[in-house]
Amino acid sequence: MDVLETKQAMLDKSLGWRKDGLRIGFVPTMGALHEGHLELIREARRRADRVVVSIFVNPTQFDRASDLDTYPRTFEADRKSAASAGADAIFLPSPAEVYPEGYQTYVDVEEVTQTLCGATRPGHFRGVATVVLKLFNMVRPDVACFGWKDAQQCILVSRMVEDLNVPVEIVGVEIVREPDGLAMSSRNLNLTPEHRVIAPQLQKGLRALADAAERGERDAATLLQLARSLIEAQPEFRIDYLEMVSRRTLQPIRTLEPGNTLVAVAAFLGDVRLIDNVRL
Ligand code: AMP
Repeated sequence: MDVLETKQAMLDKSLGWRKDGLRIGFVPTMGALHEGHLELIREARRRADRVVVSIFVNPTQFDRASDLDTYPRTFEADRKSAASAGADAIFLPSPAEVYPEGYQTYVDVEEVTQTLCGATRPGHFRGVATVVLKLFNMVRPDVACFGWKDAQQCILVSRMVEDLNVPVEIVGVEIVREPDGLAMSSRNLNLTPEHRVIAPQLQKGLRALADAAERGERDAATLLQLARSLIEAQPEFRIDYLEMVSRRTLQPIRTLEPGNTLVAVAAFLGDVRLIDNVRL
């Protein structure tokens, strides 16, 4: 498996594959790969002849310097697990390679970035949209896989690709969870052992909400209160947001719309911010 550190080397590799008529799949990540990332790589493998995984801890999407500093970096393990899941190349650019001196162009996706993580993490999605478009231009994939774990990110990338006529197919991949239900995340490595034990309560709250919806409850306030009370049964949780929104606009809705509803939560345990969601 190749490890490419410059955009020129990445582009040369991609253009060579394209000349041979090969279809390129792409999985953008920030590294510290876990089973969730590997599932994305396997999905890309099923849809393409060659798979590129990028590992880039993108400074422009971090709103807290401490989060950027403590973000786990585990390259040697990542290289092995990416290869075993079927990656053909890792694109590993430095921050200066992606944002050279004089850099000044950013992508803003407007409506769908105003709520949820966009409301509490200023500039985060501007950094995400910008780096994803830049990576698409450096990797030139035919298809790119994103996890539903970051539902708002999936939705904004699809919006951007459609709005800016980017010739890439976007595929959403289901959330991969630990056996106790906690959504896998690189940030889970930063949880204290005590917080790791109570972290699955986040998903228990969402599951109870989904069960109540299944039984016919449609009122957003009632459903959200049910989830909130279960999450807050663990007083260590500080909920950042817990909302029911339209999947098309990501604006809040007062009544569940089957097939168009996203319930998303973000909560802190200590300094670690966890997110999870359910689509109904
Ligand atoms: P990250 O490295 O956190 O930026 O994530 C890279 C990609 O992996 C994103 O598309 C995430 O949505 C996806 N991802 C992260 N965790 C999971 C998970 N538990 N299940 C599915 N996809 C995930």
